[in-house]
Amino acid sequence: MKRLTSTDNLLIATLWQRMLESAGIACEIRNRYIGAAVGELPADQVAPQLWVRDDRDMTRATALLDEFRSPRSSAPWCCFACGTLVEGQFHQCWNCEALRPDP
Ligand SMILES: [Zn+2]
Repeated sequence: MKRLTSTDNLLIATLWQRMLESAGIACEIRNRYIGAAVGELPADQVAPQLWVRDDRDMTRATALLDEFRSPRSSAPWCCFACGTLVEGQFHQCWNCEALRPDP
């Protein structure tokens, strides 16, 4: 189990978790409910943290997260699973939730 990243936005952390899990990488969010303690603890210790369960997934998880945070291309792509045209900033089909294939 390794810490992948942290963010002060639980929604973002949840989005990243779903993205990684749909790619087959088991992960969990820590500090999900600790927000009430903010002010008494250092902010980086109370922010939601995303942890990867299997250390062997860290490299792939890091690459996926990097790509998710800064998409290389904003060109629309066609979902291989259902044929829907998806805007380039999205890495998951809004229609069937299939992940964008690697270029
Ligand atoms: Zn689709």
